[in-house]
Amino acid sequence: MWHCSIGAAPQRAMPVLVASPYCRTQGFGRNHPLAIPRVATVLGLCEELGWLDAGSVREAPAAGLEDLLRFHDGAYVEALREADAIGHVTPAARERFGFGSSENPLFPGVFERASTAVGGSILAAGLALDGRVVFHPAGGTHHGRRDRASGFCYFNDPVFAIMTMLERGVQRVLYVDLDAHHGDGVQGAFAGNPAVLMVSVHEANRWPHTGAADDTGGGNAVNLPVPPGFNDSELRFLFDTVAAPLAGQFAPEAVVITCGTDALAGDPLSGMALSNGALWDTVARIVAMTGPAVVLGGGGYNPWTLARCWTGLWGRLSGREIPATLPAAAQRILGDLQCDLVEDEDVRAQWLTTLIDSPNVGPVRDEVRALAATVDGRRLYELA
Ligand SMILES: [Zn+2]
Repeated sequence: MWHCSIGAAPQRAMPVLVASPYCRTQGFGRNHPLAIPRVATVLGLCEELGWLDAGSVREAPAAGLEDLLRFHDGAYVEALREADAIGHVTPAARERFGFGSSENPLFPGVFERASTAVGGSILAAGLALDGRVVFHPAGGTHHGRRDRASGFCYFNDPVFAIMTMLERGVQRVLYVDLDAHHGDGVQGAFAGNPAVLMVSVHEANRWPHTGAADDTGGGNAVNLPVPPGFNDSELRFLFDTVAAPLAGQFAPEAVVITCGTDALAGDPLSGMALSNGALWDTVARIVAMTGPAVVLGGGGYNPWTLARCWTGLWGRLSGREIPATLPAAAQRILGDLQCDLVEDEDVRAQWLTTLIDSPNVGPVRDEVRALAATVDGRRLYELA
């Protein structure tokens, strides 16, 4: 068991899952890592498990222009809206705003889809402040910049979740980013803002190549770049020695978590090797630190590990018992998935029959201990 020194979790009302009306529509065109079934599979599995009762699901609205401009640059927002409307990007707009590339393609409905991720996170933050734990799996676009698309992200919905909380009077928001890639867009948005503490665990030497251990993001970011093969024991170690003490000192009034699934073993775009249970435990532990909590999705490019992780995460957040074996109809959903980035022979038997990964318990390597020692102490001083 992990021990949380922050105090007992307050009683909460029923958790909420914010669903995207676009989750059943394929975005990103062809040959893009995000052109795989994602949230629709999660909803399908949850439905088969009987985990979506009336009152626990809300549909994300699209954010309006006024909302988008609270963070994003007007010229950028207008350029994306117009390009989507006419189905064409000028070379000048591509150069300046970063969309219309193979990384951030222009596809029909991209503006509405990106706006809906923002609207979902604004809704999620509001519901969280009403005392609910909120899961918004279509959120987590943590690379989006104020005036530029980046890393498959057009807007930055985690920024809006945090901003909504601050605007509604929350004094201190803890942002934890568990995606395999550094949450550079969120760090940049709140750089040096003492009302936001960011803790990011991500794979070292991966795109976007930011978030080194000595990068404090203006004094309020703790970056934990971890080595390939990062295991469950190492995540637990970093939380015990670095993240939990720092978060406790910060005394957050609300938390926002980006829980991409690309840190799991088997993801084609990362070399981290966590089991989904390690992510569930970590999220549960962070959520228990305070009252209002928003849990967002994020990256994740293996449709099996993604769907099982986020389904189980909703199960955990909503207090369900996760069955050892999935019902036949749920197994069929997993059996029907396909992905060009994952070889058939790499599809593990447990990905088709159960939500629960075998734990990846292992040694805490010297480099992970050294990372904790580097971050410890110095950050405590800076944040004091
Ligand atoms: Zn990622």
